[in-house]
Amino acid sequence: MQATRIVVIGAGAAGLVASRELERRGHDVTVLESRRAVGGRIRTHRFGSVQPGPLVELGAMRIPGAHERTMALIRELGLGSRLRPFLTLFSDDRTFVHTAVGHVQVRDAPPVLVQQLRSRLPAADHREDTVRFAAWLAASATATAPADFAHAMSDDVLRELLTFVDGIDVRPYLGTRWSGGVDLNTFFTDHSRAAMQHGGRLLSFFADMAAETSLPLSRLTGGMDQIAHRLAAGLRGDILVGHEVVGIDVHARGVRLIVRNGAEVTVMECDAVVCTVPFSVLRHIALRGLHPDKLELIHDMAYWPGTKIALLCREPFWQRDGIMGGASFTGGVVRQTYYPPVEHDPVHGAALLASYSIGTDAQVLDDMDPATRTSVVLDELSAIHPQLSRPGMVREVVTRSWGQDRWSHGAAAARWGKDPGTCEDERLLAARPEGRLLFAGEHCSSYPAWIEGAVESAREVVRHIRLPAAARAGRIG
Ligand SMILES: Cc1cc2nc3c(=O)[nH]c(=O)nc-3n(C[C@H](O)[C@H](O)[C@H](O)COP(=O)(O)OP(=O)(O)OC[C@H]3O[C@@H](n4cnc5c(N)ncnc54)[C@H](O)[C@@H]3O)c2cc1C
Repeated sequence: MQATRIVVIGAGAAGLVASRELERRGHDVTVLESRRAVGGRIRTHRFGSVQPGPLVELGAMRIPGAHERTMALIRELGLGSRLRPFLTLFSDDRTFVHTAVGHVQVRDAPPVLVQQLRSRLPAADHREDTVRFAAWLAASATATAPADFAHAMSDDVLRELLTFVDGIDVRPYLGTRWSGGVDLNTFFTDHSRAAMQHGGRLLSFFADMAAETSLPLSRLTGGMDQIAHRLAAGLRGDILVGHEVVGIDVHARGVRLIVRNGAEVTVMECDAVVCTVPFSVLRHIALRGLHPDKLELIHDMAYWPGTKIALLCREPFWQRDGIMGGASFTGGVVRQTYYPPVEHDPVHGAALLASYSIGTDAQVLDDMDPATRTSVVLDELSAIHPQLSRPGMVREVVTRSWGQDRWSHGAAAARWGKDPGTCEDERLLAARPEGRLLFAGEHCSSYPAWIEGAVESAREVVRHIRLPAAARAGRIG
């Protein structure tokens, strides 16, 4: 496909990376973004106006070391010196994990988790190492998977897993991070082929989970939104914020867009369009000229809700308990609680990511009115952090429900649990161009729910667009 002037819909990671790559190849790009700001699902919330001050990531917050495109992008943008280790679930042994006997600190968890597993599968006769490994894996899965995925860790899957693990020397993966901990990510990297042969069911479930709890993970000091801001600042073309695309018509010569900016509605005729709008939003836009199978996928693609509730606390009280970062698996409706680093004068308070949930767990919180939601979260979290009940400890509460967000209608495309072949078929169809309408975004990638996916899809989409001969000869516009 040849084009010079290209419109990109969406100024999230995919739209901004695609725009950057297209401009590098000599195209003129205009970005249309419905929100008033760039970044999409990369959203850093800053409490107060003092900088540096307390901040919390309401969207993307960590980058797995294996996500090479994202790491390379960060370095290209001059942000490499701002990368810091991201401490996650089970990273800090003073954080808490929810078990059958209540909340225990991670350092005390291994025997409890092993006992929990043995009581689930009393007849199972496996090596001690195998049981310890599987106990940790089951705990990680319970902590990261939404409740409707609990069945993925059914007794059948556990038995399958134990048998699989029995055939492997798991000692190199045990105890590398703290006594009792398990290096899940290295294990899945080393044994993905075997796990695949053993059953795609195991692999599809564990791959994402391993990425979430794997080390190294990185964060950006000063906020993940620097990625979007640096990308935006580097573009030559316009980024028109507050411009919502409400209609897309694919025809023989290009693509017609209906764009609303406040009360004003305009029609734009475009050589080519790169659409990074999540399908959960796209299905509410008037679409013409697309093939029925594509329309079907746009309407049917599953999305997970995802909700984060953050608190501005008077002080980082958790540090007095020895928690210097990482996350607790709190169970209940709170699910995961993260302790962001305090890299500013603590007089301005400290941010606590009180609750991070996805899927049905997020839906439970979304269905509550804001006051009930706040009190439920505070009550639940006070069981492990009684300091939260002290007068004046919580100064501010901020909630971001991505499921209820008009421009996302979900946190991420949900391919978890599908077999690898089905995932790839869905990806190919999602990314398939329709005439001069091209598609990018995490939902079109092999890393859904990650920035890596947005970047991968953006790099992929620009390969479909070539400059016409005149432009290659330097005669563009
Ligand atoms: C809670 C949460 C936690 C996450 N954690 C991580 C993490 O730790 N690490 C990680 O790598 N990834 C994480 N992700 C995923 C990551 O944020 C996304 O995969 C990535 O940012 C998606 O980028 P995108 O460009 O595909 O989509 P988006 O960022 O959604 O960009 C699409 C853009 O299109 C705009 N738009 C929508 N409709 C229209 C319209 N009609 N007209 C014009 N513009 C429109 C939107 O406003 C948006 O800006 C997380 C996501 C969430 C929600």
